Amino acid sequence: MYSMKVDFLIVGQGLAGSLLAHFLETQGASIFVIDPDGSGSASRRAAGLINPVTGRYFVKSWRVDELIPFARETYRTLEQQLGGSFFHERCILRALGSAKEENDWLARAGDPGYLAYMGDHTKSEHFQTLLYPTLAYGQTLQSAQLNVAIFLDFFQKQLIRKNELSKNNFNYNDLKINRAAVVYQDIEARGVIFCEGFGAIHNPFFNYLPFRGDKGEALIVKIPGADFEQIVKQNNTFIAPLGNDLYWVGATYEWHFENDTPTEKARLELLERLDTVLKMPYEVIEHWAAIRPTVKDRRPFLGQHPQFQQLWIFNGLGTKGASLAPFWAHHLSNVILEDAILDPEVDITRFNHTKQ
Ligand SMILES: Cc1cc2nc3c(=O)[nH]c(=O)nc-3n(C[C@H](O)[C@H](O)[C@H](O)COP(=O)(O)OP(=O)(O)OC[C@H]3O[C@@H](n4cnc5c(N)ncnc54)[C@H](O)[C@@H]3O)c2cc1C
Repeated sequence: MYSMKVDFLIVGQGLAGSLLAHFLETQGASIFVIDPDGSGSASRRAAGLINPVTGRYFVKSWRVDELIPFARETYRTLEQQLGGSFFHERCILRALGSAKEENDWLARAGDPGYLAYMGDHTKSEHFQTLLYPTLAYGQTLQSAQLNVAIFLDFFQKQLIRKNELSKNNFNYNDLKINRAAVVYQDIEARGVIFCEGFGAIHNPFFNYLPFRGDKGEALIVKIPGADFEQIVKQNNTFIAPLGNDLYWVGATYEWHFENDTPTEKARLELLERLDTVLKMPYEVIEHWAAIRPTVKDRRPFLGQHPQFQQLWIFNGLGTKGASLAPFWAHHLSNVILEDAILDPEVDITRFNHTKQ
């Protein structure tokens, strides 16, 4: 006899695992989550920005018209359910450093498909005590900031209260796959859903998928008296408020890395960039690093193992977990529980298992 029987085991309690747990439970399934700690996970190091318009050419992010309203509704529901405050709708002030950039912004903002996301642009004198001048700032609409670590703490407490979390590493060798179920140590389940972020490169069932990995580093700085509620993007640097005079400053992007620990090179790069943006005195409080689970074609990885139908994956959230996770967790939950058709854009069958 097994000491526990659940519908699904979930491996990983980052954004992917937590959102998936939320939707599976909401749709009536029982779950049990395994994650040793996750304190260095990408989710807990992220700024949690939801940014509808990105890049040099101010282009809408992939499927943003579906993703953003769904993310907003999900995080608001979770705030109510968990009794916490972690989702903040905030404008992103995007520095426009030249007349060309300003014109490009204005032209794009006039496009009917962008009216919902691009607001006024404002002259930089409004922020002159805080920031070094730029020509102007474009202001995004519908952007937001999820304080991911606070959300995950609240979610973790709920899991612990409901006896649904084991703070251990999932040991792949201990998984037995039977015809209709899986057995992991003393737990029997209908299936396992792997949500290990970049840790999935160690997963013997799914590491054939083309994970890339992108190391990101960020600083937590204290800027006494800045009292700034918006998010700034200037000189490739985001400054995002965390409360109590603390701000998240980042980030770096590094495809070639040896480990997930902070480096002196990235610290100096971030400080150099920050010094060209921020006028006020600041103090560095922490230096963070983690690996983003980026993938070859920049689309999430959702689906079922080609050989073992009881094994599923939810991964590949890359640089945009805060906006992607709610919509795709809900989608996967519908696929698993309601037999909905998996969206081919995210279905892992786009990669050939046998080639590896
Ligand atoms: C510096 C930085 C800044 C970022 N900024 C943003 C941003 O502003 N906006 C945005 O949307 N995204 C941002 N991201 C990206 C975002 O963090 C990711 O898209 C997202 O967090 C991925 O979530 P995940 O749950 O898939 O993976 P992770 O957060 O890595 O979580 C995976 C979890 O699985 C657990 N795990 C792994 N292996 C095992 C195992 N064998 N057994 C048990 N548990 C295991 C880990 O402990 C971890 O808790 C940023 C990332 C970084 C690094």
